[in-house]
Amino acid sequence: MIVGVPKEIYPGERRVALTPAVVPLLAKAGLEVVIEPGAGAAAGYPDAQYQEKGAKVLPDRSAVFAQADIIVQVLSHGANDKNGASDLKLMRRGQGLIGFLRPLSSAQAVQEIAQAGVSSFSVELIPRTTRAQSMDALSSMASIAGYKAVLEVANALPRMFPMMTTAAGTITPSKVLVIGAGVAGLQAIATAKRLGAVISAYDVRPAVKEQVQSLGARFVELPLETQDAQDARGYAKAQDEAFYAKQRELLGRTVAENDGVITTAVVPGKKAPVLVTADMVKGMAPGSVILDLAAERGGNCELTRPGETVVERGVTIMGPINLASGVPYHASQMYARNLTSFLTNLVKDGKVRPPESDDIIRDTLLTQGGEVVNVRVREMLGMPKPVASGS
Ligand code: NAD
Repeated sequence: MIVGVPKEIYPGERRVALTPAVVPLLAKAGLEVVIEPGAGAAAGYPDAQYQEKGAKVLPDRSAVFAQADIIVQVLSHGANDKNGASDLKLMRRGQGLIGFLRPLSSAQAVQEIAQAGVSSFSVELIPRTTRAQSMDALSSMASIAGYKAVLEVANALPRMFPMMTTAAGTITPSKVLVIGAGVAGLQAIATAKRLGAVISAYDVRPAVKEQVQSLGARFVELPLETQDAQDARGYAKAQDEAFYAKQRELLGRTVAENDGVITTAVVPGKKAPVLVTADMVKGMAPGSVILDLAAERGGNCELTRPGETVVERGVTIMGPINLASGVPYHASQMYARNLTSFLTNLVKDGKVRPPESDDIIRDTLLTQGGEVVNVRVREMLGMPKPVASGS
């Protein structure tokens, strides 16, 4: 079976789906790798390294699509909302596709992939079970985004993070607040701690309090009823607008006390809740910085503009999208490992295993035989249940 790696085409994207190091691991599982010339160059992996490890460099992109049984990408159509659709015409019925497809927020793209007859697997839908942990691409990319978010804030602040005692006086440490302490938030706390900031963090799920404290941050307790904040899969549940209004009111003072605020609060399949209003931004000292990691999902700050940095009354509000792409070498290394685990579970004896045989395959299979087959996605997109269920 041949696995094809096209070069990423989303503007500014520097990651690559597979790195040279995983080529021999895939070969052991009977999977041959072909790449588009320069596929890994922007991530720091030249073609020659792929060749040394046994991958073939084909003449161009269309040759990769023509030869591969399965195409692996970082941002596929759906997650690549700029030019991802252009790949669909290079694909054929029955061909496999694995990548970020953003299935819960791009109904039209999902339908288009289905209509192309492609069997697609969405890495966003990998279940968060112990067995699937080595495939969890969302967590890999969230860790990197959390790390990079802190570097961006540190760079934009007119202050330093650590306390310094110098002959010119004592510098007080910067104060950083992290709202949303999931994978990205916890990594942001750990990184800001290493840089010497004083950190506090808040999450709607009380279960994270201990994790926050174990990283040396203060957990901000808000007098809010949050018993029912977590679903069975460990994700935050959506709350009603009255809850979010109360949350904003209570968070206001904490936000104003901090120099840097990193927000990561999202709820699967929903627009991100607004937790920092324009008024709250007004209450912050000039020079403060907000980095909204939820920008791509609508933003946690009312003033966030996705993909842009705005300055409002001296407060810088950054809404980066695709932060993980800014650390392409390690992001690709982690993603390639995730995909290798996924592929070696998916393919046995040169064939893709049927979805009924495995919960990871069943949960991630999005489209097959011209249909959107994933029950969860069909529900979210308001489609009726499929006759023959794929999930
Ligand atoms: P996420 O990206 O869906 O959300 C980020 C954080 O925002 C979450 O912690 C969430 O509780 C928080 N949030 C949502 N609404 C909020 C609000 N109104 N105010 C404040 N915070 C709010 O979450 P994630 O990073 O993907 O992680 C979700 C959970 O899954 C975590 O408990 C994580 O440890 C767990 N997890 C488990 C596995 C595994 O078992 N294999 C793998 C990865 C993550």
